[in-house]
Amino acid sequence: PAPMVAIVGRPNVGKSTLVNRILGRREAVVEDVPGVTRDRVAYDANWGGRRFTVVDTGGWLPDAVGLAAAIAEQARLAVELADAVVFVVDATVGATDVDEAVVEILRRSGKPVVLAANKVDDTAAEADAATLWGLGIGEPWPVSALHGRGSGDLLDAILDSL
Ligand code: GDP
Ligand code: MG
Repeated sequence: PAPMVAIVGRPNVGKSTLVNRILGRREAVVEDVPGVTRDRVAYDANWGGRRFTVVDTGGWLPDAVGLAAAIAEQARLAVELADAVVFVVDATVGATDVDEAVVEILRRSGKPVVLAANKVDDTAAEADAATLWGLGIGEPWPVSALHGRGSGDLLDAILDSL
């Protein structure tokens, strides 16, 4: 079977937009309203001739209740089943307490993690991405899921992590 790559992160950081960028087509549902992707959804992808499965997840809220807790559970399950994880952070917001909590869960998973610093739409925003070195999980890859900036290098890093 193709290796599985899970896309996780807080609601609204651009996970579904990134999934569409990876696929090169608009299949994952993107919404301005947080928390729209409620389940794990798997898609067939390929990059440089290598096939993999990319799994979009709902936003990850470690202390969530109710529906949000169910979404968080889906993200946890996706990580368990994944061969590698792409952790998406909104570089324009920076690392939040929730992001730090997710990092702890990812560390414990022992899975390879690629850090995507999303919403780096222009050169000026690259400084925002660099602050994410502070999360302590390695190199932040600056990317604009919306415009495609940096997505090739991110995909190379994802495939290298497998
Ligand atoms: P998700 O909840 O993490 O899946 O986030 P979505 O993919 O649904 O995106 C949430 C919002 O962020 C939408 O309004 C997207 O258009 C926007 N967004 C996603 N990626 C980018 C990006 O690279 N740059 C900017 N400026 N906005 C983005
Ligand atoms: Mg989504």
